[in-house]
Amino acid sequence: MTETSPTPVVVTRDGDVGLIEIDHPPVNALAQPVRAALLEAIESLDHDPSIRAIVIHGRGRHFIAGADVREFDHAPRAPLLNDVLLMLESCGKPVVAAMHGTTLGGGAELALASHYRCATADLSFGLPEIKLGLLPGSGGTVRLPRLVATERALEMMTSGMPLGLEAARALGLVDHALAGDVRNAAVGYARELLGRGAGVRRTREREVVAAPDPAQFERLRAALSPAARRVPASARIIEAVEVATHRPFGEALAHARTLFEACRTSVESRALRHLFFAERGAAVAGARTVGRVGIVGAGTMGGGIAISAAAAGLTVTLVDTKAGAVEAGLARLRGSIDEAAGKGRMSSADAAAAKARVTGADSLEALADVDLVIEAVFENRAVKCSVFEQLGAVCRPGAVLATNTSTLDVDAIAAASGRPADVVGMHFFSPANVMRLLEIVRGRSSSPDVVATAQAVGRRLGKVCVVVGNCFGFVGNRMLYAYGRERELMLLEGAAPEQIDRALEEFGMAMGPNAVGDLAGLDVGYQVRREWRERPDDPRFYRVSDLLVEHGRLGQKSGRGFYRYTPGSRRGTPDPEVVALIRAEATRLGVAQRVHADAEIVERCMLALINEGARIVDEGIAARSADVDVVWCNGYGYPRHRGGPMFYADTLGAGRVVERIRHYAAALGPRYWQPAPLLERLAATGATLAGGADPPGGEVPS
Ligand code: NAD
Repeated sequence: MTETSPTPVVVTRDGDVGLIEIDHPPVNALAQPVRAALLEAIESLDHDPSIRAIVIHGRGRHFIAGADVREFDHAPRAPLLNDVLLMLESCGKPVVAAMHGTTLGGGAELALASHYRCATADLSFGLPEIKLGLLPGSGGTVRLPRLVATERALEMMTSGMPLGLEAARALGLVDHALAGDVRNAAVGYARELLGRGAGVRRTREREVVAAPDPAQFERLRAALSPAARRVPASARIIEAVEVATHRPFGEALAHARTLFEACRTSVESRALRHLFFAERGAAVAGARTVGRVGIVGAGTMGGGIAISAAAAGLTVTLVDTKAGAVEAGLARLRGSIDEAAGKGRMSSADAAAAKARVTGADSLEALADVDLVIEAVFENRAVKCSVFEQLGAVCRPGAVLATNTSTLDVDAIAAASGRPADVVGMHFFSPANVMRLLEIVRGRSSSPDVVATAQAVGRRLGKVCVVVGNCFGFVGNRMLYAYGRERELMLLEGAAPEQIDRALEEFGMAMGPNAVGDLAGLDVGYQVRREWRERPDDPRFYRVSDLLVEHGRLGQKSGRGFYRYTPGSRRGTPDPEVVALIRAEATRLGVAQRVHADAEIVERCMLALINEGARIVDEGIAARSADVDVVWCNGYGYPRHRGGPMFYADTLGAGRVVERIRHYAAALGPRYWQPAPLLERLAATGATLAGGADPPGGEVPS
């Protein structure tokens, strides 16, 4: 066996089988140098008369994870993967894709263009381009329907969900399962093919499998969810596949390529790629080792955090001082883990081990040896300070002490512990075992390794972690108050709760803010506002929510909030009583009634978010505007295809944002409508919040 190439693609020979090994760490992404080397490797082996079959495999833990996403910001550079794959498919000898681990996007397309596909049990095969607002642009839309039924192909591409080995085999996407070393097993399979006299088998020469008629394609389009409809790639995937079913292969491939370019340059794809990079975060260095975690407070949040921690392999001690609270928390935890196992998300052995890792206690003394404590007791400064004073005394030196406070001053809590360098905020979102966002609050004295520890643990729990500074509400809830302020003012001005919710849902918010309030419980915010000393001195501020709470309308839990709920239903119906209550209050406060266009509702809410976000960035509470976007897209249902409030601001341009804020200052008064200084500076220079001079461009989604 001889090595002939020092490039990211290594060519070797094993007798009459030529081996092409992709060696481009960490995930063998198909960057331009890889494509160029691959083309050369295919050409040389195809022309080598001593070679009778070719095997392509990947070095490391994955076959090929896909394209190099950074390249999508620029016009494509030759050789295009499309051309590489056409050359591969044209080879005059059998080409075998030997897949293992992650085989996604361009990696899966390479496999589809190969003549035979074999894979190991750890295969994850899929076309997830839709998650970046793209379509498979290198033949996936044209070749997949030649291998599997069109509807199944469409489902794979519009959902982006990957398949494991068994599912891929059942569909006929994998011809042969490999055991043991992927390279050797694949060479054995190639020999077996040669022995059987199996020849080249080009996907493009096959007929499309079970093509739906035009009416069925129409039905598939109509069946797209509102969220899927907002990303043009969904409809373009259907179009590409429809063309593939009735036009010649080459024509359909060219059409798919045009559609791909339209997606690549769309603002939606830029937004999704922006989030892809923003969510990856930098490597974490210097974290303290954490194996044992103490959780104080076995309520809504503590219980959810305990579920996440146990499932992630940490040993958990759950402490609560209220009689029965620990038992109830443990029972919920066991139920949730059993449910995950029942749904196949966890093996029953893992579920049993996770449950066995959790114990309960009724005193903080039980936390003397833990590596990290996460406190989730009542949102009350005195209660939290008392808990931290005890933790400071009980916990071993070096243990990290974290608070899950939503709004309280992390520095004050840290001071109470007597060891503020060990203290950090870990702000989880409800339900804590489901929501992906974790705000890590860096206090004035938090030591860097304590912040790194919180990040490392957060990632271990599968969270998207954003380090933020300490202020009222941190990043997410501070902006939520600006967003909510406008919503509440418009309610007083006469906009109906359902109009506001509908307008913002049409913009893309996962749920209208009034419905969110009813779901979370209006009393939660009410309590926070009672504790909030610097709240604006404005009788209209959050007056509608407070009014509803004062009338016993707490949201879903009391069957009445902004909406009315019939028992057992989570869908509210508009309630004339709410309109009457708000009207009377508006009269009392002297707020004139008028009709609001949906556009005003969306614009006021979005500008309020953007303006507060810009202040947060300017003050250094968020290190970069992309962090604000990660918080809002992962914790508050902000539409991902708009990239987050800061990315959306860049699509509008700072100049336009400042102009509209000034418009509202003139129309509604300057109190809440002073442009953030950062926005004014950016407007003056034409720069963006993201840092570049170029706005994200493309057409702004309306
Ligand atoms: P909860 O009322 O459901 O649970 C609090 C638990 O703490 C109760 O079981 C109580 O018995 C226990 N407790 C109180 N004092 C204690 C003490 N001194 N020692 C031990 N246990 C004690 O409250 P929650 O909704 O889980 O909120 C907990 C924290 O999480 C709060 O700081 C809250 O602001 C924050 N938070 C809540 C949400 C949410 O949506 N619920 C979201 C993010 C953060």
